[in-house]
Amino acid sequence: MTWTNWVGNQTFTPAATATPRDEEEVVRLVSSAARRGQGVRVAGAGHSFTPVVQCDGLLLDMNALRGVVATDPARRRATALPATRIHDFYEPLWEAGLALRNQGDIDTQQIAGAVATGTHGSGVRHTSLSGAVRGVRLVTASGEVRDIGEDEPGLLHAAQVSVGMLGVVTQLELEVTEAYRLREDVGLRSWDDVLEHWDQLVADHRHFGMFWLPTEESGALYNLDGHGARLQDQCYVKVYDEVGADVPDDETVGHRVDRCYRIYPMVYDPNFHELEYFVALDRAPEALRAMRELMLRSLPDSIYPLEVRTVGPDEAFLSSQYGTPTVVISVSGTPGTDYWGYLRSVDALLADFDARVHWGKLHFLTRERLLALYPRAEEFIALRRELDPQGMFLNDHLRPLFE
Ligand SMILES: Cc1cc2nc3c(=O)[nH]c(=O)nc-3n(C[C@H](O)[C@H](O)[C@H](O)COP(=O)(O)OP(=O)(O)OC[C@H]3O[C@@H](n4cnc5c(N)ncnc54)[C@H](O)[C@@H]3O)c2cc1C
Repeated sequence: MTWTNWVGNQTFTPAATATPRDEEEVVRLVSSAARRGQGVRVAGAGHSFTPVVQCDGLLLDMNALRGVVATDPARRRATALPATRIHDFYEPLWEAGLALRNQGDIDTQQIAGAVATGTHGSGVRHTSLSGAVRGVRLVTASGEVRDIGEDEPGLLHAAQVSVGMLGVVTQLELEVTEAYRLREDVGLRSWDDVLEHWDQLVADHRHFGMFWLPTEESGALYNLDGHGARLQDQCYVKVYDEVGADVPDDETVGHRVDRCYRIYPMVYDPNFHELEYFVALDRAPEALRAMRELMLRSLPDSIYPLEVRTVGPDEAFLSSQYGTPTVVISVSGTPGTDYWGYLRSVDALLADFDARVHWGKLHFLTRERLLALYPRAEEFIALRRELDPQGMFLNDHLRPLFE
């Protein structure tokens, strides 16, 4: 069987595939692969752009282990099986008076896949989904089932962002929040105005994000025109804030009011791939100005925007937000086009800002940079070796960084 990711830029043929029906079967499959000396990886929903699923040995499809299995409104917790899609959380949580604390641009990822790479939304008062993980149940290389909780903070912080390297996740416990409704305020604002009011925009809103559109053609992506002003002097700004029960639902595009999970998700066609780096928030305006200049200079024909978001700090060893809030900087291109030179120049520019990477999006991280940028990377590697001494959960993409 040939496996291909959602956008089609990663393809490989594993030696074998299996679809375990329950955790016991995962234990049997991992144990027999270990006896044969075969590598094991898990496929989530395939929404990563990097070769994080790639596997020469046994590829597991966890789709049979799907669903929210418990909610605890008093403790604000939700427990889910690994292949639970983000949108599978919506109704069961809402019925219990709960909601995910934050979420990203799409909701079709499996929760274990999203957590494995540090998937995030926007807003400095909120962590990524990984930062909300309070328990991880894992089948390790020895076939042991480990329940990792808050009583083992080191292991928990390693397991919060693990890119599938510690074992097969069979259950996750997330800290959630009381159900909330959002009002969106979406529209064009000038680049200069946004940069001038950057601190205020970040601090004053639950969610602040923006797309900067490098050409007039970019407007077609969002059905926007500059109303007489050049689009490249403007930003498409998205602000979401919580509203109380007194504010009625509203369907007006750009000013909707609704349950949180109806406001967050966007729809994307699989016609792009993306690089995403994270810079410490206090250097955001400087990094954004440098990126805009680079894009105007290096890739004048690209119509893809610069996407900008923020994420609050957490303690996961491989998190891009480890110990610091960050600004998130993403650039995209069309699959099949050669824009590697441009991506390398983005990498070089943001390396000067000590940027960390998104594990699911294109990047050029080396082991040297990993160790310099992620202060707990060596601890992650030590724990990984302890749990998986033969490296059966590594692949060709991860081995140079984490062996
Ligand atoms: C259109 C689009 C929009 C996106 N928007 C955002 C966004 O807003 N914010 C953001 O941060 N990211 C975003 N991403 C990136 C995406 O959230 C991540 O790449 C995420 O990891 C994808 O989840 P997945 O279920 O598809 O996992 P996959 O890509 O299939 O797998 C990711 C990793 O998880 C591992 N894994 C999966 N399940 C298990 C398991 N049970 N046990 C152990 N390891 C496992 C896999 O082996 C792999 O290493 C977007 C991607 C796309 C294509």
